[in-house]
Amino acid sequence: MKIGFIGLGNMGAPMAANLTAAGHEVTGFDLTAPCPEGVTKAETAADVAKGADVVITMLPNGAILRSVADEVLPLMAEGSVLCDCSTVDVESARAVADKANQTGVLAIDAPVSGGIGGAAAGTLTFMAGGSDEAFAKVDPLFDIMGQKAVHCGASGAGQAAKICNNMILGVTMIATCEAFALADKLGLDRQKMFDVVSTSSGYSWTMNAYCPAPGVGPQSPADNDYKPGFASDLMLKDLRLSQQAAEAADADTPMGQIATALYEQFVEKENGAGTDFSAMLPRFEKRGRKA
Ligand code: NAD
Repeated sequence: MKIGFIGLGNMGAPMAANLTAAGHEVTGFDLTAPCPEGVTKAETAADVAKGADVVITMLPNGAILRSVADEVLPLMAEGSVLCDCSTVDVESARAVADKANQTGVLAIDAPVSGGIGGAAAGTLTFMAGGSDEAFAKVDPLFDIMGQKAVHCGASGAGQAAKICNNMILGVTMIATCEAFALADKLGLDRQKMFDVVSTSSGYSWTMNAYCPAPGVGPQSPADNDYKPGFASDLMLKDLRLSQQAAEAADADTPMGQIATALYEQFVEKENGAGTDFSAMLPRFEKRGRKA
């Protein structure tokens, strides 16, 4: 396939590299980042769009996605696919899909989980929203860049799945960290706490697979001085998107709201920016009940 790739940052570059390695013809554009080996560099986003069967975007946010989509959609051929893999707000995903459909272009929102490691290894999970026809066209590409793709429903459903998942992730990470901090104060050994909880009803991905306590459980960013991994700043971005969506849909999400406020405080006022999102544990560890 002829693939255009726009946004060659931490995630986009390895994803594009995997597509060329699988034999696809990939043309890439980024405002600042260099093209990975094997990807032909374009001078503008528009150049990427011309003649592409599929244009993939991996961009920072919904506003940038909307402006890039405005630039590329008029140049894309009828029946080609615009596949956005960025994490953006549900409204932007739906607005871009509407515009695409008006010009005869198929649209898919397909945010990912699996992080930079998953992007490099080609083991991402894609959660996709869009028509069956659009999904069928890009599914073979998901197979190359990832290990699993779930077609979640119509446009916006991929972003909805992503932010619901990450709202659970943020909330459970906080719950796991505050429980460890409480266990410390009760004199309970962290390894014993892990041994019990990881095989009891408090188990979760954050405890069992990504334990925030250094030296306990499988290797995780906690064992690497809380270097990301999944940065607290990105967790905050996703939590904010979840609350924006909850407001728009009139959904009551009190735990999501508290998790958003806590990560906001951590990132913006407590030097949490640039640390892994599991660094909530040393944060709680230092605090008492009143602060
Ligand atoms: P990044 O900042 O490394 O990459 C984004 C790239 O987009 C940058 O290279 C930037 O120069 C480029 N860009 C910005 N505006 C542009 C424009 N108008 N035209 C062309 N290029 C433009 O970010 P990332 O970590 O690669 O994340 C990309 C997306 O993936 C985000 O939406 C993020 O939330 C999501 N995501 C990231 C991770 C992760 O672990 N990093 C995990 C899952 C999802």
